[in-house]
Amino acid sequence: MRTLVTGGAGFVGSHLCETFLAMGHEVICVDNFITGCLGNVEHLRNNPQFSFIRHDISHHLEIDGPIDNILHFASPASPVDYLKHPIPTLKVGSLGTHNTLGLAKAKNSSYLLASTSEVYGDPERHPQSEDYWGNVNPIGIRGVYDEAKRFSEAMVMAYHRYHNINTHIIRIFNTYGNRMRLDDGRVLPNFMGQALRGEPLTVYGDGSQTRSFCHVDDLVEGITKLLFKDFHEPVNLGNPSEVTILEFAKEILDLSGSKSQIIFHPLPQDDPKVRKPDISRAKKLLGWEPKIQRTAGLTKTLKHFQEKIARK
Ligand code: NAD
Ligand code: UDP
Repeated sequence: MRTLVTGGAGFVGSHLCETFLAMGHEVICVDNFITGCLGNVEHLRNNPQFSFIRHDISHHLEIDGPIDNILHFASPASPVDYLKHPIPTLKVGSLGTHNTLGLAKAKNSSYLLASTSEVYGDPERHPQSEDYWGNVNPIGIRGVYDEAKRFSEAMVMAYHRYHNINTHIIRIFNTYGNRMRLDDGRVLPNFMGQALRGEPLTVYGDGSQTRSFCHVDDLVEGITKLLFKDFHEPVNLGNPSEVTILEFAKEILDLSGSKSQIIFHPLPQDDPKVRKPDISRAKKLLGWEPKIQRTAGLTKTLKHFQEKIARK
């Protein structure tokens, strides 16, 4: 099997590259480092089954030889990152999706799109199941990401229906783990970095908004299961254990033993008030559900961030 991962030098993408190599695939990693870095795949560079192409996937890409699977994970993913790069985010979710689907058509590859819980926007249904169409503000600041992913999903379904490509769509809910950037602006690296440095933890709004955090190892297991299934509708992948952001800050203070204070900052525009996946479809279809409880996952991740800070 020859598998191409766009965004392979990012947080989730680097775990996918590792996993497919371990499964015996040849892996081609494509990345332009807009939010990822070579360091994330440095340990794979000596593996003869691994190759790396520095390329912006919003531009056409030619690859020699067959490709069995294409996983399109390239896109800034943290709200801070996509607000900093709004136009590249729109391009990678539209032109990048079109280019990777074109490649899948040319090579007759299976295809998997990394979509997101953000397609549900600020949801009016809770928890979110795949048949919910969402509540997205197209012209709000998060629209550049949300609408690009919604467009990506429409494009993937069109290639499936009209070109008969074997496509898959996953809607990823807040995932965390090793190789997240400490400065990517997402809540978990922010809180862990702040706790470990003894700085105040910055809770946005009153902290009553909720999220549901999934460890990357659980996510990757779900992805490898779905890729080989004959199923083309979107599948939620996430951990249904929901927590308020204020409780989450307290959990990180407890686990790290930090004496940091909690301070409150204004809530960013269109910040979803609740988010929790309904994973019935993934359970039934894949026999999949997350195994890593938040305390265990956070403890492991805290250790990684501790090492990162110590190396600086
Ligand atoms: P990340 O920022 O760590 O990784 C994204 C990678 O894509 C980076 O290495 C970046 O350099 C690369 N990239 C971006 N634009 C590119 C382009 N035009 N050409 C080539 N490479 C490009 O983010 P992540 O958390 O690993 O997210 C990976 C994917 O999963 C994204 O598509 C994201 O939307 C999706 N996702 C992630 C989460 C999560 O919680 N981590 C949640 C929902 C969806
Ligand atoms: N958040 C916070 N403090 C921070 C960073 C984020 O309170 O330092 C909040 C943010 O407003 C949101 C939640 O944490 O309600 C999750 O934010 P994140 O950026 O991780 O991703 P999102 O789930 O919003 O895409």
